Amino acid sequence: MKGRVFSGARPTGRQHLGNYLGAIQNYVALQDDYECVYCIVDWHALTTLRDTEHLREWTAEMVLDWLAAGMDPARGTIIFVQSHVPEVTQLHLALSMVTPFGKLEDLPTFKEKIRQQPDNVNYGLLGYPVLMAADITLYKASHVPVGEDQAPHIEFTRELVRSFNYHFGPVLVEPQAVHTAFRRVMGTDGANKMSKSLNNHIELAATPEETQARVMTMVTDPARQRRNDPGHPEICNVFALHQFFSPEQVAQIKADCRSAAIGCVDCKKLFAKNLNAHLAPFRARRAELSTQPNLVWDVLAEGARRAQAIAGPVLAEVKAAIGLP
Ligand code: SF4
Repeated sequence: MKGRVFSGARPTGRQHLGNYLGAIQNYVALQDDYECVYCIVDWHALTTLRDTEHLREWTAEMVLDWLAAGMDPARGTIIFVQSHVPEVTQLHLALSMVTPFGKLEDLPTFKEKIRQQPDNVNYGLLGYPVLMAADITLYKASHVPVGEDQAPHIEFTRELVRSFNYHFGPVLVEPQAVHTAFRRVMGTDGANKMSKSLNNHIELAATPEETQARVMTMVTDPARQRRNDPGHPEICNVFALHQFFSPEQVAQIKADCRSAAIGCVDCKKLFAKNLNAHLAPFRARRAELSTQPNLVWDVLAEGARRAQAIAGPVLAEVKAAIGLP
């Protein structure tokens, strides 16, 4: 093993293609080389969420998808809920004491959130990156998987660790970024990133029929008004996904699209067929796992127990280093 990976994701319920290509696939692959700690960050979710009644259900659905996709506690992977390990809130508080206020205000992500939710600029939102730093450092994670746009967050955590260690002694570990190919998957509207809130998503656990229906609504090359118009696959979202789900046919699809030998309806049908074939084992496994009603909560309880076994001693080290009586 090359080290310990930490990553967190908000509880968003049933996962979609964007989650799958952007994160879950990487989570599964990282298990080959790292001890993996994967967290459902429910505290983080509260910084933007006011309606919390579905948090429990969304957590269960998301973990079921994770397990069905191959994130596997039997391989040593820890899967747990952030709030089940309360040590993180104490470390968050300790780290907040070495965090310059102005630095938080200047972070582009905070400014973006102010724009997105001007009527709910809460204290948790400002402290979000500190809680994230606590998540990572509580488990002495050596590596954090990031896409390019998340690199500043890791840099912020590294600075905080240096600051803490400078003040109180070398207790916390500076994490390294593992640069993974986090694909940005566009939604069925072809204009925005795939997202449940925009209802432009394709759920992994949907039925083949539901999947085909969604795929048929996908926006393609706007220049193809008629069946005989030549297409531009490089700007078509269906083609972008063919590259992943139809690797053996993609060269032919590209040529046929350009020459108008294939129409968008047939092209989408082919994509839906290949996507359903790709997801069939995942769906079968999910159906099998969902017959065990306690499975998800047992996995999360065991995950929290194992996470706490790491977190407890680290927090004790932190408190001793600070000199708390
Ligand atoms: S034929 Fe396929 S790749 Fe070409 S524009 Fe239509 S959906 Fe996109």
